[in-house]
Formats: sequence, structure tokens, C-alpha cells
Amino acid sequence: SDTFFRPDLRASIDSQRLIENVNQLRGLTPTDNKFCAVVKANAYGHGIKEVVNLLKEEQVDFFAVASIFEAFYIKPLIERQRILVFEPLNISTPAKYIDFACRNDIHWAICSLEAAKRASQLASDKKLKLHINIETGMGRLGLEPAQAEELINFIADSPNLELAGIYTHFATADEDDLSFAYEQLDNFKRFIKTNTRCGDENVIRHAANSAACIKIPDSHFDMVRCGISMYGYFSRSQRHAPVSLKPVMKLEAPIVHIKRLPAGRSVSYGRSYFTKRETATAIIPSGYADGYSRLYSNNASVRIGDKFAPVIGRVCMDQIMADVTDIPEAKVGEFAVIIDNDQNSPAGAYCLANASNTICYEILISVHEHVRRVVI
Ligand code: PLP
Repeated sequence: SDTFFRPDLRASIDSQRLIENVNQLRGLTPTDNKFCAVVKANAYGHGIKEVVNLLKEEQVDFFAVASIFEAFYIKPLIERQRILVFEPLNISTPAKYIDFACRNDIHWAICSLEAAKRASQLASDKKLKLHINIETGMGRLGLEPAQAEELINFIADSPNLELAGIYTHFATADEDDLSFAYEQLDNFKRFIKTNTRCGDENVIRHAANSAACIKIPDSHFDMVRCGISMYGYFSRSQRHAPVSLKPVMKLEAPIVHIKRLPAGRSVSYGRSYFTKRETATAIIPSGYADGYSRLYSNNASVRIGDKFAPVIGRVCMDQIMADVTDIPEAKVGEFAVIIDNDQNSPAGAYCLANASNTICYEILISVHEHVRRVVI
């Protein structure tokens, strides 16, 4: 939407950082490898339109989206790159979407022979490009090897379907113990080796997400699919990483009011916080409606200048209270950073993820679509 009801609440998107992160990740793979920028979920909260526009002139070969609807949305923005849809084509996919995919060279994941049979009847004269997801240990969408082989043969015999990719997805590439990831990798390699069509020049073999791109060079095959690291984060914080990623997004809002409370007064709904001293409280106009979780109540900090103010009381739908007693520069109009673009910041996505028992992905993705993205 182009209607921003809170123009002052802004998610600034650092274009240079985004491009540098992509270049670093690309630099880990052989130069002729393809790079797939994962922009699903509104580009992990960064704004899919903004991110695609920033990356379309860069060395990106594919944009990956979750659904065909995201593909509709970004297709007009790009010329050179192709789009890969992760949510598999299935037996109930409307014919008009299949037609759109054929006409626009959209690559689509598939994990069912029945879906392929139906698509082969619906696909138009231009070939529908399919990527088969192979089960190697993720236990989600992949096809078991025997079924995958059947599907590969069917596609080979169908004049309007094309095997454009073979891929798998890691379940634990972001963990310290990579033994299961290597097991998955072995399963994938075995599948590719025993199915000669997987070796065709036009078939893109791919497996690596960000963590595998960074930690398992053997998993790079023909293309890597990076999401979280493009945006400046590791799936989990990783020491000794061969890249130095910088967070791309910063969410900030101006203080709208400073309220002075005597000691012993409660703050916000449910009275979960009582002032221990005379307290200057900054009211920041953002809340869980914008993606700043209620779980951060009494459990996070915001940054004002180079100082951190604890969030006190419950986070409201569109307001946060922070204790700025020790921050005299915190004044009405001054910006408070509520999701910081520094991996080590107490207001950063890792800290917020810890505070709410989740992963940094969810913190970023939660920044609501109505928040204005400002590309800097
Ligand atoms: N590939 C697939 C199939 C995915 O579902 C995802 C994200 O969930 C990615 C790649 C990107 O993962 P990451 O953000 O960890 O790089």
C-alpha cells in the first residue's frame, strides 16, 4: 500500500549494505554459479518491491518467492532475472496461474506426479519450468527418490513441461553440529548421480540456504538460495564466519511525549511495571500493530542516540514506553530506534529474538507491510 498512516514510523533500508551482503555471499561461490535472492515474506520484512528494485541490477539470477501471488507482484519490476516459486504447483492450482507461469518464464517447485500430469494438460505452448524438490531429510515437501525419478521421467516425456531444476533443503545447516546436513548432502549427491537427467546442462541443481552457503561449500552446486544473510544476519549467530554481514533494516520512530512519573506508579496495561524512582518515560508511537511484539514488554531496549532505554510496561498496539530518565537528550521529536541495524545491539534483532524465544527471521518479517520503507 502507498498509504502510510504513520509516516514518521520508518524502516530504513540500507541499499549499500544489502548489495555488499549479496556480493559477499556471491563471493563464496564459484563465479559461474547462480545466485537466488530469497525475497518471500515481503523480502523478510524489508519490502519486496524495494529489495527487488535494489537487486535487479546486481548479480542476481533468480528471485525466490513463496507464492505465485508474490511472483505476480514482482514480475513487472524485473526484466533479466527469473522467478522461482517455492510453494509447489499442486493439483488444485488454477489453470490461469499455470498459464501465467508459462508465459512469464516463472520457475515453479513441484513435488507430485499428479500435479505434473494435470499441469501438462493445462500448460500452454511455452514450456512450464519445474524444479523438483528431493526429500533428503527436511521432511517437508520433498519427493522420495523413487517418486522423484518417476516424475523426472514424466516431465522428460511431456512436450510442454521442462525439468529446470533439482533441489533440496537443509534442516540443520545453521546448527553447530553439521553431521545431519552432510547426511542430507550425501543423499542429494547420490540422487543426482543415479539420475542421469539431473546432469543435463539446463538443469539447475541447488541446495544451499544462507547457512549452507556460508558453511558448506560442497553444497553450492549450480545455485545458492540466500535469504537471511542477504539481510545481514546469520540464522544463528555464528563465530568465525567467512563473511562480515551488516543488518540492512533499521526501524525507528520519533518520541511523541515524555511523561514524568513519581516512584511507585504503574506503567501501561496490566500494571506489569512499577517505577522505582521518579521516571521520565518516552512514549514511542509503534507497537505490536507494527510488528513490535508484545513479548518485548519489560524485556527489550530501544536506542536513542548511542544510549539504550529499557522498554517498561506492556507494549501496546501502537505505543511503547521506555525509561529515559538517564538519557537527557531523549526529547519529543528525537528518533528512537526500536529494531537496530547492528548485530550486537541490545535493540537488535538477535536480542529481540532472544527476548521473545524466536529467531531473528521472525523479528524482521514481523515489521508490518504498512510501515514505510525508506531506501537510503
Ligand atoms: N530455500 C528455501 C526452500 C527456503 O524455504 C528458504 C527459507 O526459508 C531459503 C532457501 C532461504 O533460507 P535462509 O533465509 O536461511 O537463507
